[in-house]
Amino acid sequence: MFYNPNNLQFRLRGIGAGVHRFECLIDSSLIDIAEVVSIIDIQGELSASHLFVFKMEIATTLGLICDRCTEGFDFPVKTPLEVIYIRSGSEEDMPDNGYLHTFDGIQLFEVDLTEDVHDAIFLKLPMKRLCRADCPGIPLTDSEPEEVDERFSPLAQLLSKLKSEEE
Ligand SMILES: [Zn+2]
Repeated sequence: MFYNPNNLQFRLRGIGAGVHRFECLIDSSLIDIAEVVSIIDIQGELSASHLFVFKMEIATTLGLICDRCTEGFDFPVKTPLEVIYIRSGSEEDMPDNGYLHTFDGIQLFEVDLTEDVHDAIFLKLPMKRLCRADCPGIPLTDSEPEEVDERFSPLAQLLSKLKSEEE
């Protein structure tokens, strides 16, 4: 195994050229995002040649609070991620996709994709958090505002006192 299925560390030293599949199940505590409440399933493949290309699909579930009704709800997230490790000096030919890392020469190496996966999930945190698109918000009609018992309101007491004095 060139990787540990319970974290995101990959041993590239001595790996053969070609495509290597991998699947990791990561505990949410490894990714420092409070909204991640379930295990993170990462399936992908590593293409090894003069460079190393990780292509993966990240799936997890976020636990969010609805902006309108304040109820908690599950928000499934699926996102692709590509991370490339390339020999330093040759990165000029590559499109800068934000997930390009360099390594130098013979110094090789174990790589850790935790931060890349963290960033990919973080980008999927929705700006607007709604349990459903047409969430009506806190249902005002169902729960009547609490009625004030008039007998205990000072004004009511005063009024009824005046009233009884009039009689
Ligand atoms: Zn809602």
